[in-house]
Amino acid sequence: MNGEVIAPHGLNGSDAFDGSNGADGGAGRQLLREQLNRLCLISAVSGFEGEATSGILDCFKGLYDESRTDTLGNCIMVKRGEISKNRGLKTGQETVAYRDVTSPSKFLERLHALLPGAGYRDVASPTKPSPIKASFVEPSPIKVMLAAHVDEVGLVVTRVEDGGFLRFTCTGKIDPRVLPGAEVLVLGKEKLPGVIGSVPPHLRERRKSDEERQAVGFDDLYVDTGLPGERLKEMVRVGDPMRFASTCVSLGENRLAGRALDDRVGLLAVRVCLGRLMKSRHEADVFAVATTGEEIGLKGATVAAYGIHPDVAIAVDATFGLEPGVAEHEGSKLGEGPAIGIGPNVHPRIAKTLLQICNELNIPHQVEVIPGPSGTDAWAVQISREGVPTALVSIPVRSMHTPSEVVDLRDIEWAGRLLAEFVIRLDSDSLGKMSEAWL
Ligand SMILES: [Zn+2]
Repeated sequence: MNGEVIAPHGLNGSDAFDGSNGADGGAGRQLLREQLNRLCLISAVSGFEGEATSGILDCFKGLYDESRTDTLGNCIMVKRGEISKNRGLKTGQETVAYRDVTSPSKFLERLHALLPGAGYRDVASPTKPSPIKASFVEPSPIKVMLAAHVDEVGLVVTRVEDGGFLRFTCTGKIDPRVLPGAEVLVLGKEKLPGVIGSVPPHLRERRKSDEERQAVGFDDLYVDTGLPGERLKEMVRVGDPMRFASTCVSLGENRLAGRALDDRVGLLAVRVCLGRLMKSRHEADVFAVATTGEEIGLKGATVAAYGIHPDVAIAVDATFGLEPGVAEHEGSKLGEGPAIGIGPNVHPRIAKTLLQICNELNIPHQVEVIPGPSGTDAWAVQISREGVPTALVSIPVRSMHTPSEVVDLRDIEWAGRLLAEFVIRLDSDSLGKMSEAWL
């Protein structure tokens, strides 16, 4: 990612290719494809997301006012709404806005840089002597959390063998049958290319038992880096992560295949949303969160939701795309819009609002019935603190958790537009109606 420059405002209303601006959208589609490519350059195997923050901030450059990370590595980007614009230092009649400063203490630092020797009276400690009469103005706007996970399923080295082979297990759900022949990147001291080896079929046929002939388990697999054992032991340690090395491939006009699209597509939808919000008035503060550890137990979203304490939240994730072997009731169609979840993990009024927006603006969409745990960040966010009215918007992905997941770019664009329209309509009235009762 380093050194690459991206368009500061990204895909917004004027670039959209979803028909909302009457354009054919070729340029918008290309831009979206490029942005997804960039997001997919980030390595973030669940539990090893340390490198992700700079890549995420780079991809979202120009679209947020403040950012921070937390102990679990969540990358939280805040786009302030209209109400927050009144934050600042009040001296007499005047309020100095400070959109780039995140706390009273940071503000004091900033104030002293601008006006050496000046002081102010913090509302938290009003008795402190102050050369100028001033107070800290902190309005409390609605906070909406948009959560999409940055982590991806991957592999972890369990043994470095003398012969130069790496044995491994997986982090997140991976079917070992999809692994033989896959290219991987070993994220050790340096990034090393490797391939997952497999016993040739000719030899496998000679194995005595059915089990030996058919089984593909993690114990049968190894990564071949081509390096001698001693050299490999210098470069790689037990516990180092590995990710799939596949890059994005365009399929047809609107589709793309690649690794980690679950859930880089969700992050891209959030990016599309923020791009649109750059051109629209919105009251609420938007907390766009690239969450960590989703694939291994919704860890990032759990603490991010606690820290942000949102008034309302939407998780944006991948869902099963329809493909051979997936029954109609088990998946959603690619290219027919984001799937809006309904079920116990989703606040019914928020889901209803999302459906209303889609119908009003002719945004293609599908309904996904989720009778129990959704297995997404929505599950953790919903039960944070005293409960958060939460919804789930999902983008259909085929061949999920393989090196070659497949998505339709239009679904991402539509999801982003839906999120933006939801935020634009959000005020204390609409929030009150949405969250007053579970009905
Ligand atoms: Zn996911």
